[in-house]
Amino acid sequence: MFKGLVYLDNNSTTKVDKRVIDAMVPFMGTYYGNPSSKHKLGKYAQFSIEKAREQVACLINAPSKDEIIFTSGATEAINLAIKGIAEANKNRGNHIITVKTEHSAVLDTCNYLSHNGFSITYLNVDKSGLIDLKELKKSIKKETILVSIMYVNNETGVIQPINKIIQILKKNKEIFFMTDATAAIGKIPIDVQKENIDLLVFSGHKIYGPKGIGCLFINRKRKSIDMIPQIHGGGHENGIRSGTLNTPAIIGMGKACELLKKEQFSEIVKIHKLRDYMENELLKIGNTSINGGKKRVGNVTNICFNNVNNQSLIFALPNIAVSSGSACSDLAETSHVLNSMKLSNREIVSSIRISLGRFNDKRQISKAIREIKFQVKRLRKN
Ligand SMILES: *Cc1c(COP(=O)(O)O)cnc(C)c1O
Repeated sequence: MFKGLVYLDNNSTTKVDKRVIDAMVPFMGTYYGNPSSKHKLGKYAQFSIEKAREQVACLINAPSKDEIIFTSGATEAINLAIKGIAEANKNRGNHIITVKTEHSAVLDTCNYLSHNGFSITYLNVDKSGLIDLKELKKSIKKETILVSIMYVNNETGVIQPINKIIQILKKNKEIFFMTDATAAIGKIPIDVQKENIDLLVFSGHKIYGPKGIGCLFINRKRKSIDMIPQIHGGGHENGIRSGTLNTPAIIGMGKACELLKKEQFSEIVKIHKLRDYMENELLKIGNTSINGGKKRVGNVTNICFNNVNNQSLIFALPNIAVSSGSACSDLAETSHVLNSMKLSNREIVSSIRISLGRFNDKRQISKAIREIKFQVKRLRKN
């Protein structure tokens, strides 16, 4: 299907790894039991889910698997973490700090809370996409209960200085730190214990797992973290997230994490090399620049071809799947991420995001370089 298509939109979603599919399939047919049932079929499903939970915990070096809560995706996990903490801690304070370049799941949740008695500080970023640590320090008040800063930006690949942020927050033990690590997992090794991360969120479908599954890690070993559930019902997931567990998807997410644990180091190097090769070649076109500074993960290039409209370029490249930004934002809208990085509107509508993944090889990248070079030059002549 779609033969000859070069898929370079891995930050929107990824192809499910064949090994993940093979792990999932038996849990749709053979082992269909409800993991809450007490008979053999139920117990086997539950046992397998706990194994998957262990695989997820292992990837981020969580102190225990019981601190992983499965949700329907990163969006739900973000909603649970931010609203759940806000509601549980509103007697202590009503102030939340986040960043202008966050994913819409974080920004829209914070916007919702701002209409319900909470006050939100949106930190600025500089031209390279990084927050200013001094601005963060100044923004902290006695009412601050939560700081939510993404590990890696999904549009640009920019890595925020998470360790320095946590150093600053260390003095205020009552402030919880949460990070949306959806665009970071598998691109940068993460150790929640070493890094002292309180809450971390990621998604299955960005790491060669299925869609509709994600997780929230809550570091309860580190501090007591109160959270009000956002979905009520049978009391699954320690009462924090009710609803029959999505066994096949959980098994898939577990397998995806197990594969990354074993393969991420070599995979990161391989993809980084391909990305740098592509970036260097595309920059040779001239009047072209990379959006974001040096501190970026190795799988993304957000690149501006001046005087080329990004929609026209994407349309001219039917066999190269790239995007003009986050798949979650309205097409008619210009990127809020690039806008926060002080790019002009002209630059924003001339930028595309190219995101590489596990299944890309040199031949595909060379083909993409050739076609992009040709179309950029052609469109500039028009
Ligand atoms: C994809 C993405 C999300 C949303 O994840 P879903 O599992 O699709 O809900 C949130 N944050 C970032 C950074 C993402 O890239």
